Amino acid sequence: MREPRGPEEWAGFLHWVMEEAFGPEHFPINISETAKLFTVRKYPKDPITIVRGHDLPGLEGMLIRNEKQNREWAIFFNQNNAKRRIRFTLAHEFGHYLLHRRQYPNGFRCQVPDIPLKDRQLAHLEHEADTFAAHFLMPIADFSQLIGKSEFTNLNMIGVAADRYGVSLTAAIRQWLRYTQHRAVLIVSQDGFIQWSEASLSAQLAGTHFPNVRRTPVEVPESSLATQRDLTNYPKDGVPMPKGTWFADHEVLEMGIHSDQHDIVITLLMLDFET
Ligand SMILES: [Zn+2]
Repeated sequence: MREPRGPEEWAGFLHWVMEEAFGPEHFPINISETAKLFTVRKYPKDPITIVRGHDLPGLEGMLIRNEKQNREWAIFFNQNNAKRRIRFTLAHEFGHYLLHRRQYPNGFRCQVPDIPLKDRQLAHLEHEADTFAAHFLMPIADFSQLIGKSEFTNLNMIGVAADRYGVSLTAAIRQWLRYTQHRAVLIVSQDGFIQWSEASLSAQLAGTHFPNVRRTPVEVPESSLATQRDLTNYPKDGVPMPKGTWFADHEVLEMGIHSDQHDIVITLLMLDFET
C-alpha cells in the first residue's frame, strides 16, 4: 500500500487504523500514545519515542531528534499553555513528523500561531501541519454527524463538539467552517480590533468576510455585540443584527463569548439563519 499523501489523507488513514483498533468511539484521541505506538510499528527505524512538556518561551512546541538516540524523534510542548491548546500542538507536531521530517531532518520549532510567517515555504509547512491536526482531531465525517453540513448551529452545539474532541472552541469553529454549506464568519478581536478572521467557503464566495485584517487592522463595529465589555449574558445562540452592523447589505446572527484567559472576544456571525 502506498503511503498517504498530504495532511488530509494522512488524517484519514490514521482514523481508519484507529477505527480498526478501537471501534468508531475513539474520541478524544490520545495523541501522544497514538503517535508513539503508530510510529514504532510503522517506522521502527525513526519513531517518536518522547512526548514531553517543557518551558518553551515564545514557542508552542517542537519536533526534534532525540539527542541521545539520533534516529528517534521527540515532541516537546509548551507546558504553560492550556490543555486543549497543547493537544492541538501535539497533533501539529505529529503532522510535521508524518509530512515533513524527511525533507527537514533537523525538525521544527513552532512559534505562537498569531505571529505571521514571512517565509512562504515555512508558512506552507505550518499550514499543512495545522490542517493535519484539525482533521486528525476532528474528522469531518464524524463532526458532520454532530452538526450536519446544511444544519444551522450555534456556539453551544460547537462547544459540545469541542468537548468531544478535546479542542478549544476556536479550533472547533475553524473546523466547522471548513465544511459547512452556510455563510459564516469567525472573528477574534481584542481591544476593539479584529485580530484575525476566517470564513466558510460560501461566505468567501459571497464576499462577506474579512480577508486582509492581519495586514490592515479593522475596527469592530461599534453597534455590534462584540464591543460590549460585559459579555456574561452574551447569548451563545445568537442575536440578529441589522444590515449595516457588520456588512452593509446583510443582516447577521451574531453570537460570541469573551475569553478571560486571553482577553479576546470570539464572535461567530451567521449570514444564513432561521428567524
Ligand atoms: Zn509547526
